[in-house]
Amino acid sequence: MNSPPWRAWYKTARWRALRLTIFLRDLFTCQKCRLIEGDTSKLVCDHIIPHRGDERLFWDENNLQTLCKRCHDTVKQAAEQASLRTRGVWH
Ligand SMILES: [Zn+2]
Repeated sequence: MNSPPWRAWYKTARWRALRLTIFLRDLFTCQKCRLIEGDTSKLVCDHIIPHRGDERLFWDENNLQTLCKRCHDTVKQAAEQASLRTRGVWH
């Protein structure tokens, strides 16, 4: 399977900076279970509305929230499995 072009967006410095901005804004707190996680490798910068390749949604701070990995996996798995086969594309 070919990677869609937006996968590369996650590898940009712009995304890394934006991700950190969101974590800071949310005070490193999972917006679902309120867990505070200082280790950003255990946090996910999540798109509230799945961007599905839409650049505007992808880079929109208002469409981003901090989730811990556990919440991210449980929430998104149920919601997105129907349309996405590949795991791990949301972070
Ligand atoms: Zn959580």
